[in-house]
Amino acid sequence: MGQRKINKAKPAVILDRDGVLTQRHLLTWQKKQLKLSPKIAPLIRKFNNKNIPVIVITNQPVVARGWISEKGVERLHQILQKRLNKNGAFIDKFYFCPHHSKATLKKYKKECGCRKPKIGLFKKAAKEFNINLSHSVTVGDMTQDILAGKRARTKTILVKTGHAGKDNKYKVFPNFIVKDPTNALKLAYKLLSPLK
Ligand SMILES: [Mg+2]
Ligand SMILES: [Zn+2]
Repeated sequence: MGQRKINKAKPAVILDRDGVLTQRHLLTWQKKQLKLSPKIAPLIRKFNNKNIPVIVITNQPVVARGWISEKGVERLHQILQKRLNKNGAFIDKFYFCPHHSKATLKKYKKECGCRKPKIGLFKKAAKEFNINLSHSVTVGDMTQDILAGKRARTKTILVKTGHAGKDNKYKVFPNFIVKDPTNALKLAYKLLSPLK
């Protein structure tokens, strides 16, 4: 008797930071380098309004180089969050990998499981937000983003801004290629919203 309680995992949209959420795709460690991608906030708000988590997953080897601390990266994320908030939008959570195999700082020198194209942070986000990755969408500007999205079993969208997939690190075939992050978010919304 009674209804069976189903713990229904949700879809999510998983964004890269540099070159997707923000305009600059080169290494970023200063506030003045931060600029949200044009017209992205109202599109993020659409997901917020549907309770679809918007997650940022980003490699930040600037920490491994010692150019900025982990706290510093978090401060940059707070600044982005505030700018989004002003437009009625928010990122549910920023996840970043501070490591690199050739790090200057010993502490961060390792082959970690969280640097894309590895999917440690995808798994972490899925656990924390009860996300069904196979119903989710990853948006990126580099081949490592697309490969990670594929490995995590999400649908993948490559944008032609930022690196535009021309870093040639990995051979990847995204599900979709679009002009810019706004088009990516519009497409992601179409892909996700029927699932509610
Ligand atoms: Mg990027
Ligand atoms: Zn890492």
